[in-house]
Amino acid sequence: MKMLKLTSLVIIISCIFFSCKKSEPIKSPEGQTAASKALLEKLIEYGFKKDRIQDLGKYYVVGDLLFNKELTDMKKLEAYYSKKNVQTEQTATYNLISGARADNIKFSVAHVSDFYWQQAIYAAFTSWAGVHNSKINFHDVISVDKENYADIIFKSDEGSLPSNVIAAAEFPTTNGAPGFQVLINYDFNSGNISNESKRYNMAHEIGHCLGLRHTNWQSMGEPVNPYGANQIPGTPSSDINSVMNGGTALFSWNGFSQYDTIAVNYLYPFGTYDKWITAPGTKYTYTNYVTLYNDNDLLEVRWDKNLVSTTTVTIEFYQYGVKKGNFATSVPNTGSYARNRVFMRNTFHSGSSYNYENICQIKIIADSSPSVTDITSSFTIFYND
Ligand SMILES: [Zn+2]
Repeated sequence: MKMLKLTSLVIIISCIFFSCKKSEPIKSPEGQTAASKALLEKLIEYGFKKDRIQDLGKYYVVGDLLFNKELTDMKKLEAYYSKKNVQTEQTATYNLISGARADNIKFSVAHVSDFYWQQAIYAAFTSWAGVHNSKINFHDVISVDKENYADIIFKSDEGSLPSNVIAAAEFPTTNGAPGFQVLINYDFNSGNISNESKRYNMAHEIGHCLGLRHTNWQSMGEPVNPYGANQIPGTPSSDINSVMNGGTALFSWNGFSQYDTIAVNYLYPFGTYDKWITAPGTKYTYTNYVTLYNDNDLLEVRWDKNLVSTTTVTIEFYQYGVKKGNFATSVPNTGSYARNRVFMRNTFHSGSSYNYENICQIKIIADSSPSVTDITSSFTIFYND
């Protein structure tokens, strides 16, 4: 385990960074709005240590957790807080992305100008999507003007994060959406960050967006509330190899620990029919798209014909989460059906000013039992107009 020595060295370095945070005082609340004062009071009430809450103007930040002052998360905080006496609260906290959304998490890097940070984000999502036995999956919302469809937006902190914080993320919301943004501090360590470290940190922040807390939250001195902190069954109380350990900004990507994957499998398992459709919308690997450049190019829908007992199926085309029309009806349950570019273009692309269609999904319905359905993760169709 030659990694171990290196790892302990990095821990020492990270601790130096981490200890810096503690010395930074809270700014005077003068000039603060009522909302921000109330938020600060609540954070303290919920157990965040006063000397760890940093005032960044627009946000309070504790470690790499952000609290927006004005777009107040008060309801969210309150919801977490009020749940603290409920027996199931901690499981719910970890399981916040709803089942219907967990395999269709949309993100945007439109505001990430740095090529290498972009690549780190793509690589990190590819790693998360590649965890076996978990349904989590992702889609890159490719256009800036479609950004309001993105669940997680990546952008520069624009100087708002302290110099010792490399990035910051949000946890999932109470309505089952992932944490909605990740801020990146390009200036961290004077911008001297290896690509593998960028990848590590993006995997870490995405983990927060998925509802994972720091594996070492206790030794980091983080409180249980407002987020809850349930140990996931099958994982140990500490895991030095976990990507989700805090204070690890200079670590390099070395894969998930076995317990990281156990955690994701536990939080986001496949449902009964989640593997019914097998293509398109397969697991994200740097991108997820179909090309229909020539008239004979096919968009082929494939499904596991043995999973559902039905003679025929209905196949629908969705875009932006809304049904746009039928892809095909009364389709024999053979496991495959395709439409060519001409059909797709005339039926679903007509009038579009883009040479692509973003955030597409295919839904399959068992005609024998219409409540039995499966819908793909989002994918993009590129035309060659
Ligand atoms: Zn973190």
